[in-house]
Amino acid sequence: MRGERYNISDSEGYKTLRKELVNNLTEKGISSSEVLGAIEKVPRHFFVPINTAPEEAYADHALQIGEGQTISQPYTVAYQTQLLDIKEGNKILEIGTGSGYQAAVLYQWPIELYTIELNQTLYQRTRKLFEQLNYSIHTFFGDGSLGLPTYAPFDRILVTAGAPSVPEDLLHQLSPGGKLVIPVGQPKTQKMYRITCNVFQQFDTEIFDLFSFVPLLGKYGWK
Ligand code: SAM
Repeated sequence: MRGERYNISDSEGYKTLRKELVNNLTEKGISSSEVLGAIEKVPRHFFVPINTAPEEAYADHALQIGEGQTISQPYTVAYQTQLLDIKEGNKILEIGTGSGYQAAVLYQWPIELYTIELNQTLYQRTRKLFEQLNYSIHTFFGDGSLGLPTYAPFDRILVTAGAPSVPEDLLHQLSPGGKLVIPVGQPKTQKMYRITCNVFQQFDTEIFDLFSFVPLLGKYGWK
């Protein structure tokens, strides 16, 4: 795979494109300096197919990554990351590894990161890319709608595919004070939910803007 599918060298030209992307996201309302800093650091072009033009890799829209799946729009990645409100040392589970870009953004914090992907081809491909990049991320193949009970509880759970409803199993894998960020709704449009588990194991739900994710599959996903 080395050098065939991905371009993993960075340059001043790409850094300039990242700065422009950060300005664009700031104008669109992303306000967390930590999130913007992470977006500025992660070379998004590492995570898109090698024939993608540099301007495309840093444009604010989703891109096809094969297997009928997408790398999420940078605005969406920044929005979900901002809602997660990451703290140093958090144990975080991402559901829907896909290209690995969202995981790479999360990896900019000093955290313990787990990610799970249902598509075998994407799982293998992205696991190898993380190895090449020396990213110490725990990667799993399987149905993330069930969470990762063996490794629970998690301080943060991030779902990067649209769910028909909030999977009960994920709620029960949150630590006290933990947060689940998940798009919930119809197959093509979803509202972003942030559910916080309080110290009494009760759940407070906040509902944010409308997004359009690929469907979450698996037991608690779309059939
Ligand atoms: N986080 C990804 C990124 O940065 O590229 C976004 C990928 S895409 C929007 C959503 C991903 O969720 C797809 O790769 C899809 O295969 C995966 N997916 C869908 N249902 C899943 C499930 N039940 N468990 C794990 N992954 C799932």
